[in-house]
Amino acid sequence: MGNDERLRADIVEVGRRLHDRGFVASNDGNVSVRIGDDRLVTTPTGVSKGFMTPDMMVTTDLSGRKLAGDREPSSELLMHLAVYEHRPEVRAVVHAHPPTATGFAVAGIALDRAVLAEVVCTLGSIPIADYGTPSTSELADAVRRHIRAHDGLLLANHGALTVADELFAAYYKMETVEHFARISLVARQLGREHLLSREEVDRLQGLRDRYGIAAPAPLCPPDGGAGEDCQVLEAPSSPGRRLVDPDAPDPASPDVPPSSADGPRSGGGVPGDDDEVRLTYRELTALIADAVTQLR
Ligand SMILES: [Zn+2]
Repeated sequence: MGNDERLRADIVEVGRRLHDRGFVASNDGNVSVRIGDDRLVTTPTGVSKGFMTPDMMVTTDLSGRKLAGDREPSSELLMHLAVYEHRPEVRAVVHAHPPTATGFAVAGIALDRAVLAEVVCTLGSIPIADYGTPSTSELADAVRRHIRAHDGLLLANHGALTVADELFAAYYKMETVEHFARISLVARQLGREHLLSREEVDRLQGLRDRYGIAAPAPLCPPDGGAGEDCQVLEAPSSPGRRLVDPDAPDPASPDVPPSSADGPRSGGGVPGDDDEVRLTYRELTALIADAVTQLR
């Protein structure tokens, strides 16, 4: 099998996986791979990604002009071209509509909290590109604003996009985005998320070299605002701690959980007049009973 044939077969395989995992419905989604300096192979428009054959692929130049293929290239080709324009090292782009990640994109909630070590190491933050009408240059422009610093994006009210230096790596990043979205959803349904501290995030990102993980961009400075060349990641500074409960009062002791099933939150100093104090139902009842007794 020649290189070109192998590549087409790999795109077919990635399409099948996107379809099998429910990351696309009907003819959604598209995949492209850059070959050499001046060409790319893309999925055709108007076919299910679960039922493609290698001969359906379309070759274009990097301005989107068709060079070979019986079909028309993906309708989202402009978005793929925008990625290749700004990221010379990127060789593959995967776009799909995985339901949980797309749900976050519809809710306008970015996946930008430092929660899972492997996501912090690989993708870092996953921001939301502004809404743009699909298949137009609006969407390509929205992607352009984030793609220099990110390998995974949510597309507002649309789906997700991942990029990498080879096809399967880009596909696996799509799996990671959806998996991360599902875990984040469950944690939020459970009512709390402990975050990795900024110091732990620095430590994790320092491991990238050791494991050969390409880092898309550094974190933006904590008070430096957002930039196109850095990532915004919610990770509160807390020297000496690896996990931070953002809802807990400032802890005095690093490894004591801030609450337990039958006691009030502990670990903080003396609460101020305007601080929130949490009591269990039993404690509240006891306080009221006490007050009533004193009134008698
Ligand atoms: Zn789409």
